[in-house]
Amino acid sequence: MLQKPKGTLDIKGKDAKSYKYIENAFNNFMSLYNYEYIKLPTFEVTELFYRGMGESTDVVNKETYDFIDKSGRKMTLRPEFTAGVVRSFIENKEYTDGIKKYFYFGSSFRYERPQKGRLREFTQGGVEAFGIKNPAFDAEIISMAYRFLSSLGLVNLKVRINSLGDRESRQTYSEMIREYLSKDYDNLCDICKERLNRNPLRILDCKYDGEREYIKNAPKSVDYLNEESKEYYNKVKEMLEVLDIPYIEDSSLVRGLDYYSHTVFEIVSDLEELGKANTVCAGGRYDNLVELLDGPTTPGIGFAFGVERLMILMEELEAFIPEINLDVFIMNLDNNLYSYQVADDLRNSGFTVEIDYTNKNMKALWKLVDKYNPRYVIIIGEDEVKSGYLTVKDNITKEETKVKESEIIDFLDMNI
Ligand code: ATP
Ligand code: MG
Repeated sequence: MLQKPKGTLDIKGKDAKSYKYIENAFNNFMSLYNYEYIKLPTFEVTELFYRGMGESTDVVNKETYDFIDKSGRKMTLRPEFTAGVVRSFIENKEYTDGIKKYFYFGSSFRYERPQKGRLREFTQGGVEAFGIKNPAFDAEIISMAYRFLSSLGLVNLKVRINSLGDRESRQTYSEMIREYLSKDYDNLCDICKERLNRNPLRILDCKYDGEREYIKNAPKSVDYLNEESKEYYNKVKEMLEVLDIPYIEDSSLVRGLDYYSHTVFEIVSDLEELGKANTVCAGGRYDNLVELLDGPTTPGIGFAFGVERLMILMEELEAFIPEINLDVFIMNLDNNLYSYQVADDLRNSGFTVEIDYTNKNMKALWKLVDKYNPRYVIIIGEDEVKSGYLTVKDNITKEETKVKESEIIDFLDMNI
């Protein structure tokens, strides 16, 4: 029997409901903030991710799905959206428009070791905004993520924030960290030994070394911010307080990617269900990325959340997901065409309708009614076709009435 690839999911049944609910909720939520939807290719030229995410990142080093197409081009299934959105922003010269605010939703791919909340194909929703350099906006981005997740009924979320400062601050800090970690060289894991030269900050993020006391006691980025960066960070925090967003400052938060500057943040859940995969949303400011990908210097900021991780939390917390209720089930007793016409009329008037297509016996049909649990059952057999009166059964009170065909829509309008 053929099976789905390791690390992928068939999202169906109850899970599909919660998946679609999150997607719809996100669409609606983003319109409150006037963001525009963007849909991008699922694969891009490999070089985009190498340059965009940084060659020494875990994602690009080990986790990408790379392939060579039939013309010999190197392609990569997107491991995240940011690089693609920036590519599109530059390619379409959107920077001439000033401010641009996008949101997206779709699959990302990473060749990781699958476990709960860690998949090889997973769904990210997120935003990227260009052209705004204002600490109040950083705070708004963080609050937007927090408010959205809260609106799904997720409680017990923690917002962790940190600042890496501008290019100059980040550079000074990197040097300090390199010096500090060089003294610990022998204890570093093999990957971190390599990182020490290329990007020492990433060692603080390491899932192994990051847990060690020596690394935990490393100098903090906030202590190396220049005046300007410090002021920027203070304003972000001030604004978060104004917006009443609970946050924790976490100096170990440096984020795994090369492109971040100033504000970085993560939203984590303290529910044990997710184990180490407990970061549900992550993001930050990236003022150098557009330039790095050959665009004009443009500030940018964004975040991405993992939909499957949200689904696990929503299930765990028994978050409310509205059901789609069936208004009408049509029992088509002798497979008459008239029943399908009634179904069509009702659906055109906005009622949710299911009909029996199989010409089953009465007993089987009532079983179907139990399964679908409609508000009304409309029975249409020979008598009904002849008389033009439909038999309508209220599935709550079990009361049965005859309703003239031309009045059925009014009847349902009044009762549903
Ligand atoms: P982690 O530390 O858990 O590996 P990350 O830092 O690699 O996460 P990001 O690149 O910031 O993750 O991606 C943003 C969000 O996408 C994460 O916070 C998480 O919710 C989700 N995510 C990332 N990788 C996976 C994965 N392999 N499976 C499911 N969700 C994922
Ligand atoms: Mg990861």
